[in-house]
Amino acid sequence: MTKNFDRTSLEALLLKRFFYAPSFGPYGGVAGLYDYGPAGCALQSNILNIWKQHFVMEENMLELDCTMLTPYDVLKTSGHVDKFADYMVKDTKNGEIFRADHLVKNVLKKRLEDDELLKNGKAPTQAKGKGKNKKAAPTPLSDELRKEYEDILEQLDNYDGKGLDGLIKKYNITSPEAGNPVSECTLFNLMFETQIGPTGSLKGFLRPETAQGQFLNFKRLLEYNTGSMPFASAQIGKSFRNEISPRQGLLRVREFTMAEIEHFVDPENKNHHRFDEVKDIEIVFYPASNQMEGKGTVTTTIGKAVESGMVNNQTLGYFIARIYLFLIKIGIKHEKLRFRQHMANEMAHYACDCWDAEIENSYGWIECVGCADRSAFDLTVHQKKTGEKLVVQEALPEPIIRDRWVIEINKPKFGPAFKKNVRFVQGYFDNMLEDPTISYPKTTKDSEKLWNEEKVLEFKKKLEEGNGSCNITCSDGNEYTVTSDMVAINKITEKINVREYTPNVIEPSFGIGRIFYSLIEHSYWVREGDEQRAVLSFPACVAPIKCLLTPISHQDEFVPVLKDIAAKLRAHNISNRVDDSSNTIGRRYARNDELGIPFAITLDFQTTKDQTVTLRERDSTMQIRDTIDTVVDLVYKLVQGKMEWKDVLANHKAFTTQEV
Ligand code: AMP
Repeated sequence: MTKNFDRTSLEALLLKRFFYAPSFGPYGGVAGLYDYGPAGCALQSNILNIWKQHFVMEENMLELDCTMLTPYDVLKTSGHVDKFADYMVKDTKNGEIFRADHLVKNVLKKRLEDDELLKNGKAPTQAKGKGKNKKAAPTPLSDELRKEYEDILEQLDNYDGKGLDGLIKKYNITSPEAGNPVSECTLFNLMFETQIGPTGSLKGFLRPETAQGQFLNFKRLLEYNTGSMPFASAQIGKSFRNEISPRQGLLRVREFTMAEIEHFVDPENKNHHRFDEVKDIEIVFYPASNQMEGKGTVTTTIGKAVESGMVNNQTLGYFIARIYLFLIKIGIKHEKLRFRQHMANEMAHYACDCWDAEIENSYGWIECVGCADRSAFDLTVHQKKTGEKLVVQEALPEPIIRDRWVIEINKPKFGPAFKKNVRFVQGYFDNMLEDPTISYPKTTKDSEKLWNEEKVLEFKKKLEEGNGSCNITCSDGNEYTVTSDMVAINKITEKINVREYTPNVIEPSFGIGRIFYSLIEHSYWVREGDEQRAVLSFPACVAPIKCLLTPISHQDEFVPVLKDIAAKLRAHNISNRVDDSSNTIGRRYARNDELGIPFAITLDFQTTKDQTVTLRERDSTMQIRDTIDTVVDLVYKLVQGKMEWKDVLANHKAFTTQEV
């Protein structure tokens, strides 16, 4: 982003060069839905290819492609049906809906900006408001109030519904345009609901993240990985969130590409065998305590951040560093990248630590990658619900011998004794299990279930005291008599040869659209000259097209050579674009700089004589001259990152005589 960054010009350029555009334009579009055009598709797929190389290939991750349609039960179990929601408020007069935290943020930010303008003797733009809601002209803020607003903005993610209601009341926040009062916060679930099949009996949702499919394939993945731990799965795909008020272009949309990794790790050993490779990387951290205390960021190495306990464990730290390296590789600016830790209320209750990679762009610091240690939450809840074991079994070096108490129910006696009430009596015994919420598969024997020793012994005592008979009160409120021939209570001795544990999950979750847009802003600048000309300085590895092929003039004699060079570039897997339009060569370069094409091969009259061409570098506009084959080879090496432009200049003198 240049100093005088002008978002309107950038947006016009992105539309003109068809990076992306609102979907269904002729129908007026739908907020939060965008289509990517050829340049955007190529840029995104290059980002994703690098992502695959950097993460999937580098760590031998197991890639998946799961369905987006997800049945209700899965997302009920994962907590999304009950909790995947944002707070919204309604304008009490005109019904306009706002996401509550965004409303507070926008209003307080505007008051701070107005105050800044007033203090500099400038007039702020005034919100309208009608009738008795007509807005009073902004007045300067006291230093105290300024500080209060600033602190709230830093900690806004930590407020729940009640907290947001409190802020709205305390600071008299109304709907920004109309100036009307707003309602109290209510929760709005962000998932798109649908029906699977024609009967309407199977409810489902479009997935809000790709993670659940990965958890539910854990058993197969572990088998595929020959039972060996730790390992990671990865998935790139679309996710859907019915955002309350999608704004800010690609940053908050209703359908977006995610790239997610689920790294499964032993909860008792979260060290990472490659941590040493990244430990010296310096990163800007914004720990939760600093946010709460109004302190700034800290810059330190990931090694020290883990050692001091600021980052919970090595595996989480390893991924923070790898995310950092990935973002830098694709062209995100180091000084506009920080890792912000979630504050206590913000963090999911099951997570033990969570850091967001935030990238600064003209909209502020934006969360682009979440990196959370989700502990054993997901696998545990799905296992409990389905009875399918989502655990790792590891042979123990020495077997463990242990005694434990079990109850075995004599089913043939239970039925006739309790008839239609048998389920209440069975329920009484289920409550004596170590974890009554686990649904064991029907085939599991009682002796294999884990019983709560204290409860079993208490029942045993009761039965003995009643000489083999006792009354129990069940969940229907009735008493039933149980006799010792109906239940066997035994102490069994077990030899345990395997350690069984539920892995913890470290989850880096990338929102590709946000990274894509931030990268565009970081790459955008305007070349001053006779005319102002926009340039997108993408690194060659992500540039949508790698090489421009252009003849100095629009003449037939260049056609066969153009075809020949294009074929040579294709043979090297270098995407290229021929621009043989009648525009001046300067205009053609400028147009293609807007697409971020890093290199241009130009054919001129000398080419037809000696088979040499010029090679231009986009950012410096410098050129060199060499034979076609050498130049194609240079472009290949530059695009592959095997060489930099300065290396080319070291071996070639700058070529200046061509007319531009
Ligand atoms: P979350 O699961 O909420 O942590 O989101 C993971 C990542 O998805 C975030 O870091 C964002 O980059 C991205 N993301 C979340 N919601 C949206 C959205 N509505 N539009 C675009 N990207 C999003």
